Amino acid sequence: MSADAASPADAAAADGSAAETPTGPDRSFAAPPRRPVVAAVALVVLALLAALGIADVQPPSPRPASAPADEFSAGRAFEHVQRIGQEVHVTGSPAADRVRQYVVDTLTGYGLHPEVQDAVGVNAGKFGDGGMAHVRNVVAVLPGASSTGQIVLMAHYDSVQVSYGANDDGAGTSTLLEVARALTAGGAQRPRNDIVFLFTDAEEACLCGAEAFVSQHPLGQKPSVVLNFEARGSSGPAVMFQTSTGNADLIDVYAHTPHPVGTSLAVEVYRLLSNDTDFTPFLAQTRFTGLNTAYIDGSSVYHSPFDRPSTMNRASLQHHGDNALALARELGGANLPPLLKPAAGDAVYFPFAGLLVRYPAALTWPIAALALLAVAALVYLARRRGLTTIPRTLAGLGLALVPLIAAAVAAQALWALLVAIRPGYGELLDPARPTWFRFGVVALTTAILLCWYALSRRRLGPVPLATGGLALLALLGALFAAVIPGGSYLVAIPALVGALAGIGALYARPALAKVAVLTAGAAVATLILAPTIALFFPALGLATGAAAAMFTVLMGLAVLPVFEPLYRPPLAPRHRRLGAAPAAVALVASLACTTVGMVVDDWDTGHPEPTHLMYALDRDTGTAEWVSLEQSPGEWTSQYVRNHQALNRQFPVLPDGMLSVGPARAADLPAPEAKIVSDETSGDQRTLHLRITSQRQVRFLSFYGEVGDHRVISATVEGRTATTYVTEQDRFGIIFHGPPTEGLDVTLVLKGTAPFKLRLVDGSDGLTNLPGFTPRPPTVGVFGSHSSELLAVAVTQTL
Ligand SMILES: [Zn+2]
Repeated sequence: MSADAASPADAAAADGSAAETPTGPDRSFAAPPRRPVVAAVALVVLALLAALGIADVQPPSPRPASAPADEFSAGRAFEHVQRIGQEVHVTGSPAADRVRQYVVDTLTGYGLHPEVQDAVGVNAGKFGDGGMAHVRNVVAVLPGASSTGQIVLMAHYDSVQVSYGANDDGAGTSTLLEVARALTAGGAQRPRNDIVFLFTDAEEACLCGAEAFVSQHPLGQKPSVVLNFEARGSSGPAVMFQTSTGNADLIDVYAHTPHPVGTSLAVEVYRLLSNDTDFTPFLAQTRFTGLNTAYIDGSSVYHSPFDRPSTMNRASLQHHGDNALALARELGGANLPPLLKPAAGDAVYFPFAGLLVRYPAALTWPIAALALLAVAALVYLARRRGLTTIPRTLAGLGLALVPLIAAAVAAQALWALLVAIRPGYGELLDPARPTWFRFGVVALTTAILLCWYALSRRRLGPVPLATGGLALLALLGALFAAVIPGGSYLVAIPALVGALAGIGALYARPALAKVAVLTAGAAVATLILAPTIALFFPALGLATGAAAAMFTVLMGLAVLPVFEPLYRPPLAPRHRRLGAAPAAVALVASLACTTVGMVVDDWDTGHPEPTHLMYALDRDTGTAEWVSLEQSPGEWTSQYVRNHQALNRQFPVLPDGMLSVGPARAADLPAPEAKIVSDETSGDQRTLHLRITSQRQVRFLSFYGEVGDHRVISATVEGRTATTYVTEQDRFGIIFHGPPTEGLDVTLVLKGTAPFKLRLVDGSDGLTNLPGFTPRPPTVGVFGSHSSELLAVAVTQTL
């Protein structure tokens, strides 16, 4: 890029003298004289800072099993992972019993006295049904030496039905076990406060274990600081992504952990995702404060049969453990009462240069306002020097939207192209090996940005573009302050610092000092934005690559003034081809990265193409269907499903809307059954006492009032009140996970005395023994979901 520095056409400009003659206008705020070498050095510095910022949010090296006893060792914790992730252990299964027994035995071995809370939990299910489960939580207390309050460390020990749950949530379970060991090891000082280790059941089904602890366990009635540990993938940093409200004091505590990785933006992003964790039932109660942490990269294994010990990155486990142990020690020794109440406010926090920077959220609007003022001041000063005008700056602002939108469209188009080439990607948030694709998206975004810049600067000039770009950042800072306040810092601070650097550059002499001041401003933007972009990719996946692409553009807008000296002055003769060179290099890099990504990430037996299939048998009609959630079914799934049909009415456990469906042979399977134990009528009200049983080994048993039938006034299931209506259709429905073999004890109070139609659906896992099912070849896998391999049998009974 610097090969043409000596070309005579702009030799005068190249040495900087032309721009600084007292007679000519000082074009040197965003357009310091052309100094390709200086600019290249500045860009290398920024690239290094970006790399350091990203390295700073990576997990630490795992410590071996021989690590000192008072430390957290991923090597030791991984032994638990291997045991827990040995087999699928969905709630209510014998395998879940074995995992629970292992947890109890391990805690007992540490001198603790774990108990099993046997209860019924109630919560909204994944499809909006009234979710319930028979749960068995493991609870162990390490009593404090002179307790000022209670800390709850929580993880769930159940897995989703097709997954081994080594990461989700073998990671959290093993983290808790290794923390319990470290805190009880010989010579360990007893913490001041009580520490409760809570291993919940039925998180995957309905968060019912956590709900049962909160609603029924004596320790769940005490004010507590709750720390939840999760995994939504197999690798990456353990990100603290969710807090209770009024988090300022807890963020202070979290900032003292060895590797704090979190941003107040994550809280906002998490609200946009539909995931829930055990933390949710706690958040609903004011007596709890807390933090929720998960590692989220490697999401292709999430809930899939590949969530096995072998896929776990032990650095992620070490990250979980280092922070969990540090939090247990710090909170365990603190004067807890102030931390058991929400702080006066939330904190804004984010990783910056190895620290977790934090300040009160009350400063969000003042900082956003300051950024707008600083940009206005810069425009005013630059205008006085004849470097820009208000219309030109406004044009720069409008033009800055072009790469922002183009990058978002391009990132989504790239993903659409990848899905078109590999349809199985359509079922994933991220491919199994996403790194090259991520570089591809960043390079593509860079190409768009540089192409846009090379074209726009000739028409508008660098200063209006730079001030317009900063104005866009500042306006977004205000918009975010209104809509997602935890994320406003991402744009408001780069705008503020960039504008101040611009003002500094207007006055700095000599030219090198201008570059230094502009680089310092861009450095702040880089250190703020680069780690967040790196976290965006795993959080939202390539399927939502637009988010990372857009923030890459925003970082680029803040850095562009440093790029400018690479280019010829706007008045110099045009060298279109050279002006296009940086963009062309970035485009070639993008194509190369994407191609390498496709080669590296092909389907194989270790990473098979994910497919989704279920089987639904209607005993009323004696017909059966194959059903898939794949919207455009791939080759393997197409053998079974050919049409689209809505099945939610017949099988209320299935999602709403059109599903891929095909005819299947009816299997000889018995339907669930409701027996009337008693039936009493009093006036217009009828009380039906039922025993609902499944005739086969099932994971869940569900029952629904007929569509349009609004007559269930109240329902009691296994002793708990559970009146629930499926909101989309205003239909009564309960899904009970892990039902007892002797069936469910159900009391329904009905309005009206006419016969009542009850739709019963039960569900088991595994399609292997069904007529017409052929096992998958090794390169075809099972998509990680709550409904993969579901076998549902339904019947209607009139009572
Ligand atoms: Zn989980």
